[in-house]
Amino acid sequence: MAIERTFSILKPDATARNLTGAINALIEQAGLRIVAQKRIRMTRDQAETFYAVHKARPFFGELVDFMVSGPVVVQVLEGEGAVLKYRDVMGATDPSKAADGTIRKAHAQSIGENSVHGSDAPETGAIEIAQFFSGNEIVG
Ligand code: ATP
Ligand code: MG
Repeated sequence: MAIERTFSILKPDATARNLTGAINALIEQAGLRIVAQKRIRMTRDQAETFYAVHKARPFFGELVDFMVSGPVVVQVLEGEGAVLKYRDVMGATDPSKAADGTIRKAHAQSIGENSVHGSDAPETGAIEIAQFFSGNEIVG
């Protein structure tokens, strides 16, 4: 499988509980390399653009409010099959359905406050990475 990059966010519920290191340990244990990382406060515009695909969903307003409610850590992860590998490490969107050993099983609080985001395909990953990082901030 090819070396890929995927985009990750440690969401406000994770930073609020000081879980950056604990989640990064699970990412690294899975064989993914954190090749870019910064802690930011997302603007409402950034959050609305980022989750535009969910604009028509009933939870969109709640989701945007949550993403701007505290600091987030945005990351670029690199590794073999990184997109699917990270989805596996994250676990199901709803933590009550997430498998043992996943980030969401261990740390997520609810289907909304679920600690992490990961890209769903290499193409969307590239778009998401470009929204938050310039090329010289990514060091593989
Ligand atoms: P993400 O895109 O954040 O990695 P995901 O791909 O597992 O998560 P999506 O279906 O893309 O899940 O939903 C995006 C995010 O919207 C979820 O991670 C969660 O924070 C929020 N969300 C999804 N479904 C609900 C819901 N029913 N109620 C509240 N929030 C939800
Ligand atoms: Mg998604």
